[in-house]
Amino acid sequence: MAEQDISDRDRAPETMAIMAGRESNQGALAPILWATTAFAYDSVVQGHSLATGVAPERFYSRYGNPTINAFETTISELEGAEASRAFASGMGAMSAVVLGLCSTGDHIVAQRQIYAGTQLLLQTVCPRFGIDVTFVDGTQPGAFAEAIRPGKTMLVVAETPANPYLDLVDLDELGALVGPMTVVDSTFATPLGQQPIAHGVDLVVHSATKAIAGHNDASIGVVSGSEDLIAWLWSFAVLHGANASPTDALNAHRGLRTLGVRLARQTATAQRLAEFLEGHGSVSRVAYPGLESHPQHDLARRQMSSMGGLLTFDLVGGSEAGERLVESTSVAILASTLGGPETLVTHPASTTHVGLTEEEQAATGIGPGTIRVSCGLEDTDDVVADFEAALAAAG
Ligand SMILES: *Cc1c(COP(=O)(O)O)cnc(C)c1O
Repeated sequence: MAEQDISDRDRAPETMAIMAGRESNQGALAPILWATTAFAYDSVVQGHSLATGVAPERFYSRYGNPTINAFETTISELEGAEASRAFASGMGAMSAVVLGLCSTGDHIVAQRQIYAGTQLLLQTVCPRFGIDVTFVDGTQPGAFAEAIRPGKTMLVVAETPANPYLDLVDLDELGALVGPMTVVDSTFATPLGQQPIAHGVDLVVHSATKAIAGHNDASIGVVSGSEDLIAWLWSFAVLHGANASPTDALNAHRGLRTLGVRLARQTATAQRLAEFLEGHGSVSRVAYPGLESHPQHDLARRQMSSMGGLLTFDLVGGSEAGERLVESTSVAILASTLGGPETLVTHPASTTHVGLTEEEQAATGIGPGTIRVSCGLEDTDDVVADFEAALAAAG
């Protein structure tokens, strides 16, 4: 990374999201797309040095690529990390962390409230490699520490705010754990909403597919941490092969430049919608960290600078009302992703979690009338009015 002005440290992250990652852009305002798989080198000696170095930027794009590098540099700046590595998806990033750091005989402590893909990776892939996983309630003080087996636990995996109920993990507590490495999936917060590394956490993962790229046009993930840890992960990642594509890195980098205003709008809409839903007779529960009724509202205010655009609520009318509601909205679209321009709704019981029994769904916190909302960039009043009308139609 180019040397930075000391005064950069005083600038807001929203400003740095626009200023960072321009060092090798030769004056072009927009990120440059290096759509090439390989680069020519001058001699056998230079080739040898590139082939044996860590993350060479101009050798072979699975090893590194200038477009991807500019995105990684910007993420490092925003996360306060020494280095970052981009992957083909959020799951590419998370699976590289888990499988790149853990070996047969190792133990992992993971949060029960977690993205379904991460849960399945830990629950089904890890056992095949002889990696033991203990799931704990990440909202309970001391839960991670109690489950750590000294000398055995290699990694603690957390997600905050977490799927599906916006449960939070205390980042200071996580950062203070002694022994294992810690990783936080910070996708819901975005790099502008919280900085886990400042709390002592080792690694931060984002599904940049979501709010970072922000336009539903890129599948990309990223991991940030110390120079040493990212170099170690790189040596696994280059064999794992889930490297980001330059096109997706370009879209993700472009997305970062507008993340500040997008997050502000999505957060404002989510706050308004959460307050509206909380006062509605057909709604039994609303989970949003920005509500005073959120059980961890104080923690949210301590560790998050923005409450984000995601909220989850339950309908009194259960599954049928839930299905009617998500089919009755006209501004909000029924789709399974988050963080983009469109407000999206999902009804987990009938879609993403349909394979689970009602008891298993309940164990993950999902009820028959649970609805998750990703607030988009539409006018806030239009979004609230859409839910008001859909709730009336759903009965
Ligand atoms: C979507 C998501 C992932 C997985 O990311 P992909 O880019 O779809 O692989 C991981 N964690 C969270 C919190 C997510 O929302």
